[in-house]
Amino acid sequence: MTDSAPKFDDFLPGGRLAAVADGESRTDLLGLTRTELVREMEALGEKRFRADQIFNWIYFRGVTDFAAMTDISKPLRARLAESFRIGRPDIVTAQLSEDGTRKWLLRLSDGNEVETVFIPEEDRGTLCVSSQVGCTLTCSFCHTGTQPWVRNLSAAEIVGQVMMARDELGEWPTPSDDRQITNVVFMGMGEPLFNYDAVAAAVDLIKDEKGLNFSRRRITLSTSGIVPEIRRAGAEMRVMLAISLHAVRDDLRDDLVPVNRRWPLAELLAACRDYPSLSNARRITFEYVMLKGVNDSDADARELLRLLEGIPSKINLIPFNPWPGSRYETSAPERVQRFGEIIRNAGIMATIRTPRGRDIAAACGQLKSESVRIPGWKRRGESKEGHARA
Ligand code: SAH
Ligand code: SF4
Repeated sequence: MTDSAPKFDDFLPGGRLAAVADGESRTDLLGLTRTELVREMEALGEKRFRADQIFNWIYFRGVTDFAAMTDISKPLRARLAESFRIGRPDIVTAQLSEDGTRKWLLRLSDGNEVETVFIPEEDRGTLCVSSQVGCTLTCSFCHTGTQPWVRNLSAAEIVGQVMMARDELGEWPTPSDDRQITNVVFMGMGEPLFNYDAVAAAVDLIKDEKGLNFSRRRITLSTSGIVPEIRRAGAEMRVMLAISLHAVRDDLRDDLVPVNRRWPLAELLAACRDYPSLSNARRITFEYVMLKGVNDSDADARELLRLLEGIPSKINLIPFNPWPGSRYETSAPERVQRFGEIIRNAGIMATIRTPRGRDIAAACGQLKSESVRIPGWKRRGESKEGHARA
């Protein structure tokens, strides 16, 4: 895959060479950066432009079979197919909601499962991708938060969700107009900023103009508030940002979004203020889940306005989506309306997120898979004491 010798960890699930451990000896080209792809071609004695050609076949045309790469000689296509593959996650189930929302349950090469959701709207189509199997955080209103963290997704597994959705919606070659998937949001399972490197590599591929070609204004990272990584993302990725705010006081936010104990509101909002290139056209979205009697009073709305003063922002009110065992209730529609009005009257944009795909449990915060974490010693095939099994 690269010129560095493989390390043992590379073969573990999610490691660089996990496919090898699954009995698949070919390197997956999906998810490699352009530089890595060039290196792979150079190792075969090929020139740099070969990597450009292959990049185009993979990310512009959506091809998964080397035989289809007609501008490459037949003998070379055969050699490529011997050493490489172009992977996709396996689709376990594909569901279609009565409102047009689609949800796919995907199986990764090590058997772990994640979900991806497509939400068509009149003027756009949003693909919601996962960044981790489970989540290390435990926000009290979120279903994913009840699923312990299993592992981070690789760049291939993140960009693979976009590729799979393009396959499913028949969107190859990359269209310039009339595309169904116009936006990609990291709002599926997991905290994207706790998987920074893979997310950044996937974002690079998603926005590559010669491939999937999403502008950075159409890619949004949603975070519970990992302050140092928000600053880093602002300097490096420069995509749109959505902050899961949900509370305007530290004591309540500590309870709803426990990561607030590490990075409280003042620090979080300071990082938002400093996020580069904010303007009226480039605002930070603040997500605010409406929990009946918990965070939905008029006073909360006014405090929210005070906190966000000076930050180009828009507020997304999300009626709470219940899940089995959840301890909250959804605010009444009139309450959500009133809360939104207070914000709009102050001249700040507030949208109310219509719940989508609730009938197939595809709405915000309802995603969860059955994957559980397998202890390291089991994965490595050792006994608990650390000895390799015969
Ligand atoms: N981990 C990231 C991204 C995934 S969650 C984050 O927390 O931002 C996507 C959005 O759905 C977040 O704003 C999250 O707080 C919200 N959410 C979680 N559970 C929800 C629920 N049950 N009802 C409504 N929104 C929920
Ligand atoms: Fe994790 Fe986001 Fe759910 Fe919190 S809201 S538990 S950070 S997925």
